[in-house]
Amino acid sequence: MQNAVIYARYSSHKQKDISIEDQLRICHNYAKENNLNVIEEYTDAAISGRNADKRPSFMRMLSDSKQHLFEFVLVYSEDRFARNEYDAVNCEETLKQNGVELVSVTQPLPDGPERIIIKSLRRGMNEYYSAELAIKSTRGMENNASKGKSNGGAPTMGYKVTPDKHFCIDPDEAMIVRQIYQMYVEQNISIKDILKICDEKHWKSAGGKEFKKDSIRRLLSNRKYIGDFSWNEVEYIDENLRIIDNDTFEKAAEKLNINRKTGARMKATENYLLGGKVFCGECGEKFVGDSGKSTKQINYYYACKGRKQKKNGCKKKNLPKEPFEEAVMKFIVETFLTDEAIGAISTMAADLANKEAEEKCMLHLYEKELAAAEKKLQKAVDYILTHDDSEVMHDTLVESETRVKELKQVIIREQESYMPVYAEDVAGWLRSYRTGNLKDINYCQNLVDMLVNKIVVYDPEPGSEYSKIIIYFNTDPKNHYELTQSDIDDSRSPNTRYPNFSMKMD
Ligand SMILES: [Zn+2]
Repeated sequence: MQNAVIYARYSSHKQKDISIEDQLRICHNYAKENNLNVIEEYTDAAISGRNADKRPSFMRMLSDSKQHLFEFVLVYSEDRFARNEYDAVNCEETLKQNGVELVSVTQPLPDGPERIIIKSLRRGMNEYYSAELAIKSTRGMENNASKGKSNGGAPTMGYKVTPDKHFCIDPDEAMIVRQIYQMYVEQNISIKDILKICDEKHWKSAGGKEFKKDSIRRLLSNRKYIGDFSWNEVEYIDENLRIIDNDTFEKAAEKLNINRKTGARMKATENYLLGGKVFCGECGEKFVGDSGKSTKQINYYYACKGRKQKKNGCKKKNLPKEPFEEAVMKFIVETFLTDEAIGAISTMAADLANKEAEEKCMLHLYEKELAAAEKKLQKAVDYILTHDDSEVMHDTLVESETRVKELKQVIIREQESYMPVYAEDVAGWLRSYRTGNLKDINYCQNLVDMLVNKIVVYDPEPGSEYSKIIIYFNTDPKNHYELTQSDIDDSRSPNTRYPNFSMKMD
C-alpha cells in the first residue's frame, strides 16, 4: 500500500467555500477507494495572504516531501493546492523532484484540448454574461445601478458582491488598487515596472487573472474607484464605495494622457496576441516579439528566437506583427465561428462543463449525510422519550440537531452554486466574437487562448516567395490548416466584413 498525505485549505475570500472537514472527508474517501494509506493531514485555514509562503502547513508539506515518506498529495481540487498558476507549477515541480505526485480528487478531466476550452469558457462566459445581460435587461440593470447593486459578472477589482447583490469594498483588493495608484501617481513608477511588482507580490487582477498593461491602465482610469457606479444614463455615486480620492484619480488620468501622447504608441502595441504559440518550422525555436525602427516609425515583428539570438544559424525571416495577427484572427473567425463549428464546439463544451460541475457538485453527498443525521436525531428523540436515564443521549441529540441545521444550509448553498452551462449560451458567447467584439483585445486573446494550439512557420516552398504558416487548433489537434501569405496580404486590405476589426489598442 502506498502512502499519501492530504492537503486542505479554507479560503476566507470565497463566500461559498467547502469546509476543511469536508475536503478531508472527500480526500479520505478517495484514499480508501484507491488503496492509499493516509499518514498525515495538512490544513491551512483562512489565511488572507496572497502567496504560498504564508501557508505554514503547505510549506511544511512541501518540505516533508523531501523525506520520501509519502508518494501522493491528495487535494480536494486544484485550486486548493495553489493560488495561481505560477505557484502551482513551481510547487508541483518541487513535489515531482521528491517523487511525489499531486492528485486532485474532484477534477478527473484530463488536461487535453477540451480542458483548455473549458477553462477559457469559464473565463469568457463571465464577461459574456455581463455583456449579454447589458443588452437583455437594460431596465433591470439601470434599476440595480441606481441602488448600487451588482448586475452580474465578475465585480471590478477592489469590490465584492454581497449575497443580496450589493457592491461593497473588498479590503484586500482595495489595498492593491490603492498601492497601484500610489506607485503610479506619487512614486512615478512606470506601468511596466508596476507590472513587475504585481508579479513579485503575486497580485492578481479581477477574477484571478494576471495583470497586464491594459488592465493596469483600465484600473488607473476606472471611475468606480471614486465611487462613481453610474451605469448607462443612470447616475449613481456612492461615497461608501470610494477607494481613491478625487485628487489622486485626476493626477492618474493626467499622467495616463501625457504618457499616451509620448511613448504610449510603442508600449500600447507591445501586446503580442500570439505570444508563446508561434514556432519556427526550420529550427524549432519559439517566435518572440521584436521591434525595429525605420525612418518614420517603429515596426513590430514576430522573430525566430534562434535567428534573433544567433543560436543556430537559422535564417527564418521575421513576420510583421499586425498583418500576421490579423490574418490569424480572420482565419479563426472564418473557420471556427461558422454556425456549424459553433454548434459543435458549444455542445461539446457545455456537456463537458456540466459533467465536470456535476462531479464537483457535492449535493448528493450532503443529502445522504442529512438523511443519516436526521435518522440519528430521531433515534435520540425516541430514546429520550422512552427512557428515564436520558443524560447520555442528550449530547447526541444536540449534536445531531446542530449537524442537521448545518447540512440544510450547506445544501441550499450547494444548490445555488451549481449553475448549469447551456450550449445555447456558449454558442451566443462564441457568436459574439463574430461581431464588433473583435476590436476588443481581451476577446481576441480569449479566442486565441482557447482555440489556437500552436502555429508553425516554415520557409517558402520552392517557387513561392511566401512563408508557409500552419495552424493547429485545440478543437482538433491532429488536423492542421495552412494559412497562406496571400491571407496575410488580404487582411491588409480594408476589412469590410468585420468593420470594427483592428488589433490596434489606442
Ligand atoms: Zn528558426
